[in-house]
Amino acid sequence: MSSTKRKSANVLLDTALNNFYGAAEEMGLSDGLIAILSNSERRLAVSVPVEMDDGTTRVFEGYRVQHSTAIGPAKGGIRYHPDVCCDECEALAMLMTWKCSLAGIPYGGGKGGVSCDSLALSAKEKERLSRAYAARIEPIIGTWQDIPAPDLGTSGQEMVWYIDTISKIRGQVEPGLFTGKPVTYWGSKGRTEATGRGVATCGLELMKRVGKDPKDIRVAVQGFGAVGSHTAKTMAAAGAKVVAISDITGTYYSSKGVDVEKAYQHMMAHPKRLLEGFTGEGVEKQGVSDVLSADCDLLMPCALEGVLNDKTANNVKAQYVVEGANGPVTPDGDKILDDKGILLVPDFLANAGGVIGSYFEWAQNLQGFFWTEEEYSNRLMHIMKGNFKLVWDYAQSKKVKMRRAAFMAAIQRVADVVKLRGIFL
Ligand code: GLU
Repeated sequence: MSSTKRKSANVLLDTALNNFYGAAEEMGLSDGLIAILSNSERRLAVSVPVEMDDGTTRVFEGYRVQHSTAIGPAKGGIRYHPDVCCDECEALAMLMTWKCSLAGIPYGGGKGGVSCDSLALSAKEKERLSRAYAARIEPIIGTWQDIPAPDLGTSGQEMVWYIDTISKIRGQVEPGLFTGKPVTYWGSKGRTEATGRGVATCGLELMKRVGKDPKDIRVAVQGFGAVGSHTAKTMAAAGAKVVAISDITGTYYSSKGVDVEKAYQHMMAHPKRLLEGFTGEGVEKQGVSDVLSADCDLLMPCALEGVLNDKTANNVKAQYVVEGANGPVTPDGDKILDDKGILLVPDFLANAGGVIGSYFEWAQNLQGFFWTEEEYSNRLMHIMKGNFKLVWDYAQSKKVKMRRAAFMAAIQRVADVVKLRGIFL
């Protein structure tokens, strides 16, 4: 093992590096490959000037990191959140490399973002910020170079602003430049739901493997955005009892089960897409992080990174955890969950539905030909179930945890391609 292991003060990057080094060591990966894959190919930092509605000018910090383009163009979302920094983008870009590799889709990993509070920006401010950011990162974005998508705090609307800006700069429309676009503009029916449906599919596959009927399980879902809401909806549709849902306004708990459809309608009707004010039979409003210690069988953290850590993991009552968010469990949290005998399905297996859906969208954009929603969903579920089986079987045969198994399988494919292509840049 190389003596120059990278370390980071950023929890997410440190977690990503630790997980990588641990798996690389177990695989006996060469020092050279470890050095290449523990670093990012490109880290771009930009300043994004925005004229605010009150006439003042603010400059936001933005980033785009390309961790690896060994397998194909970089792929990964753009997030708007106050915690966004270069290290966080790098950690998430790395995770995208493993996610795409494990999913067997022809991409490397990238991630970007702008440090801002998107809820505090008006629609016009958000548009100006999005266009300025797109223009800044334009030199490294391309249909065969780097293809961003939505992430925390961004959605189809931002993708259209980005694509419109870059298309105007380049004087031509390239619909495959960004994915996660609205259906009315080169998007795919089913893409919005894809990640959450995939997370739920992993939860249901896990239940199958441990011999549990979904009707007998109680589920708690943290986060009620694009991922959490569709995870909860899909679990409820499969017959599971969703006892707790949550967002930044609190946890909404009912031992009888929360009416997820009703909660979804409530959230969609809220001006900021929040659960604020949601009520229902037996629903009790609790603190924001109470969802993590809810009395349930299956916990699905679908919000932010690092939520299950040395302070919170001990309170988990669930027997199973499926990571819908990117990096919701820290290495300390992982160890605690492990000691408690909790079975965990890792993020880049569980939440790959989004990027697999992005791949379908990109492939359709390149062809200028659209699939039906049924075709899209069937192919997605087929890949998700196949990936789950691959990691489950790998973990059983190597007698390792699912996280380690997922890392090993994913890293192997990237390492093989790096070796095949050779080291030039
Ligand atoms: N932001 C999503 C993720 O973290 C989707 C990325 C994409 O579709 O490129 O997987």
